[in-house]
Amino acid sequence: MVYNSKLPHVGTTIFTVMSALAREHNALNLSQGYPNYPSSQKLNDLVSNAMNNGYNQYAPMAGNLDLRLAISNKYELLYNHTYHPEKEITVTAGATQAIYTIISAFIRPSDEVIIFKPAYDCYQPAIEVNGGKAIPIQLSAPDYKIDWNEVSSKVSSETKMIIINSPHNPSGTIWSKEDMLQLQKLTHDTNIIVLSDEVYEHIVFDETRHQSICLFSSLKQRSFITASFGKTFHNTGWKIGYCCAPEPLMSEFRKVHQFNVFSVNHPAQKGIADYMQDPKTYLSLNTFFQQKRDLFLNLISESRFKYRPSQGTYFQVLDYSNITDEHDVDFAKRLTKDFKIASIPLSVFNEDGKDDKVLRFCFAKTDETLIKAAEILCRI
Ligand code: PMP
Ligand code: GLN
Repeated sequence: MVYNSKLPHVGTTIFTVMSALAREHNALNLSQGYPNYPSSQKLNDLVSNAMNNGYNQYAPMAGNLDLRLAISNKYELLYNHTYHPEKEITVTAGATQAIYTIISAFIRPSDEVIIFKPAYDCYQPAIEVNGGKAIPIQLSAPDYKIDWNEVSSKVSSETKMIIINSPHNPSGTIWSKEDMLQLQKLTHDTNIIVLSDEVYEHIVFDETRHQSICLFSSLKQRSFITASFGKTFHNTGWKIGYCCAPEPLMSEFRKVHQFNVFSVNHPAQKGIADYMQDPKTYLSLNTFFQQKRDLFLNLISESRFKYRPSQGTYFQVLDYSNITDEHDVDFAKRLTKDFKIASIPLSVFNEDGKDDKVLRFCFAKTDETLIKAAEILCRI
């Protein structure tokens, strides 16, 4: 049988590759982004209660209404902006499905989508499998600053969408208010849709405010926000997320969503809705992860790695150019095999594999794991 792959250049994701290598070599796994401590007992109990109380059949297509109300209240509380729970919020099987469905709902063959590299790995394949063309804008370590003249020069009559991600995976940088205003100016009076991947919205450090797209009114009316409860509530395996957008955009989204997944795990949705009644459940994340970031960075301050403290997400990038000039993928693999610590090389998220000699380490780990990891890093 002969067939033409729609994604001939796509292999297995770096997350799967590095986690498998970590298992094979019995290494500390700071590669794939997930916690190695349990999700909250209270939340687990609320999901069990939902199962025991009959939330076992299909959820409404757009999501359990209690959960959509809780999400809507959160936007009101944090940003003083509303998304209508019935018309403007849809619960999804993680942010990945939301991103894929948004792209499928709007991108036609030869449409252009601007993405900033290093880019989270699900954006480009989703664009390309739908026939679209990713237009990369390459950012560079250590500050990953955006040159807005360059962005402006990449916008064309074919530009259908711009994907942004702040706090940013993998670099741990965040967009400033000025960046958001630049994006607002650039897209004003256009038909460009913005996909704002805000899965790390609650993990922003040093008293900085998260610049959600909903705070900018002209951006809000053209944008989707995507979010992930897996990141917020330390249970990436549950794969529950959501997206928000103004009604006309959301109604197009749902046309695809209803045939893509129809609806997602009902008891988990109900349990999360009940858990979110207390805003501390998500407002405590900044402090929780800042302590972990600071513990990790203090412990490696005498190592040969160079770094700027992560501004958001639960990732820290470390520059190893003082240690070796090996390619980052080779170095990450060697560290896993010989030093028993796994990380993610950033070049895989860059255009043409640009290698800035930086590795990403996930600090959503127990303090004990972070202490062990730092001991290893100080020996390298
Ligand atoms: N976007 C970014 C930037 C991510 O880091 C991740 C991984 N959590 C996702 C989207 C996907 O989230 P989910 O696991 O909810 O599909
Ligand atoms: N978001 C996670 C990370 O950046 C990985 C998710 C996945 O494995 N697909 O590490």
